Amino acid sequence: MDKKKIKEKLEQERDVLLEQMKDMGKLNAETNEWEATPEELDSPESDENDKADRFEDFEARSSMMRTLEPRLNNILKALKGLNRESFGKCEVCKKDIENARLEANPAAQTCKNHLEN
Ligand SMILES: [Zn+2]
Repeated sequence: MDKKKIKEKLEQERDVLLEQMKDMGKLNAETNEWEATPEELDSPESDENDKADRFEDFEARSSMMRTLEPRLNNILKALKGLNRESFGKCEVCKKDIENARLEANPAAQTCKNHLEN
């Protein structure tokens, strides 16, 4: 298993995720959680339709954020654990995780036999 390659892949995925998340929201420094932010107003005089659109857009951003944040956290967790002895070992049975699985998903914490979902 090539840890350097996996690290690069994880960092790449992290950066892509961060870009997407920065487009839709910001990291709340107090809670350390990502929050969706409403789109900037083009004009202060927006009508009711605009407001409804903006609300729907905000809802969509929020739900997207809830999907992306756990993925980001997984990647960050994997990056942190990369140098540990236990990296690439299944959390359940402690055996080596299959190379193919790690290549497909470097943040994987379990082997094929112990897939979480
Ligand atoms: Zn296992």
